Amino acid sequence: MADYDLIIIGGGIVGASAALAGVRKGARVVLIDAGLAGRATDAGAGIVSPVALDRGEQRPEWTALITECVGYYESLLAELDAVDPAGAGSATYEQVGELVVAGDDPGEQAALDVVAERLSTPEGRRSHGVTKPVEIVEDVRTYWPELRRDLRGLFITEVGRVVGSRLHDRLLTAARRLARAQSDGAGLEIIPGAGVLDAGSPRVRVGHRVLDGRAVLFATGAWATADLVPYGVQIPVRPIRGQLVHLRLDGQQTGMRPVVNTPGSGYLLGFDDRIVAGATHEDVGFDARVTAGGQHAVLQAALDLAPGLSAATVLETRVGLRPATSDGLPLVGAVAPAVHVATGLGAWGLTLGPLLGELAARHALGEQLPERLDFLSPGRPLTKESA
Ligand SMILES: Cc1cc2nc3c(=O)[nH]c(=O)nc-3n(C[C@H](O)[C@H](O)[C@H](O)COP(=O)(O)OP(=O)(O)OC[C@H]3O[C@@H](n4cnc5c(N)ncnc54)[C@H](O)[C@@H]3O)c2cc1C
Repeated sequence: MADYDLIIIGGGIVGASAALAGVRKGARVVLIDAGLAGRATDAGAGIVSPVALDRGEQRPEWTALITECVGYYESLLAELDAVDPAGAGSATYEQVGELVVAGDDPGEQAALDVVAERLSTPEGRRSHGVTKPVEIVEDVRTYWPELRRDLRGLFITEVGRVVGSRLHDRLLTAARRLARAQSDGAGLEIIPGAGVLDAGSPRVRVGHRVLDGRAVLFATGAWATADLVPYGVQIPVRPIRGQLVHLRLDGQQTGMRPVVNTPGSGYLLGFDDRIVAGATHEDVGFDARVTAGGQHAVLQAALDLAPGLSAATVLETRVGLRPATSDGLPLVGAVAPAVHVATGLGAWGLTLGPLLGELAARHALGEQLPERLDFLSPGRPLTKESA
């Protein structure tokens, strides 16, 4: 008999969500994480939005998926708060709205107009799960006094922000507590180290330990390609480095400020104790360094948007490797008998990770994947180049 029903390799937001889902189903789960530098979940800025600014409506199934994943946050948070009431708080998640801004540049204005147009009709809003009409904001400085005066904005209420590392920790806390409360053999073990899959069987080696599972789920983010090569499985995922800067504005309440986003690059998020400015998109391989050029680019974008931040204190820098695919869509499903993947969440992982991690775990434990996820099949044709 196998030691575990589900072996999860990779403990970012996807792996942690999968672990909770496995325990909920009464499974014996082990989560293995190597603690590699560049874990995206620890760096992720935290925008949880049902509206993609960088894509049109060519893929309704993608829009529907994002909308479903944002909607899932509510029930997930209710569950986490019920299991771990002491952990409830705005750092996990808060719906603060989003101010999409554009300056005089005709390209920026046109991009803003496209978003406004998409959300101008009840049908357009419904497809994004947006219930309240979006509002044109002439004076964006009523929300963020530090913003440039000439910016025009569009306010979308149904956008939230989350601290990825905090949500991750709460998912694991909930999974541990549920496992302890169950009497049917469910369990969660967490093992630090690099998991290596044996060829031809759902058996994983971690250091000197050999773990036998009924199924293995790779939630290894940007590292998925390398992890699966020995198994003969081609998963073309590559790292896209993102650097951020965390700032503090003394004497200002920033916790309930809306996300400031742009159709081009650059965004700002307000949390109780900091402002997060992001982010670079760098195709530089597995290099998780914070660089002078990266920080320069982030600060330049942030101060261009909000010159009033120039005197803010720099608290820290963050860097993470987004797991990207050539078509910009995640990979969820089986790649070999009893071997599954859930990766490639790119710049959307904090939004999509909780639900996709859960569905991937349930699939690995024997449930059908919903047909609406067919477009995420790891068997679809993909190239090695990143989107
Ligand atoms: C700068 C930046 C800003 C972002 N902003 C947002 C945002 O605003 N909104 C949003 O929705 N998303 C955002 N994202 C994207 C999001 O953070 C990622 O898509 C998401 O965190 C990916 O989660 P993951 O679990 O797939 O991977 P990761 O969090 O990278 O976790 C993968 C884990 O697998 C482990 N691992 C790898 N190989 C092995 C092995 N062989 N054995 C054991 N462990 C292994 C690693 O150590 C790592 O801990 C951002 C990302 C970055 C970098």
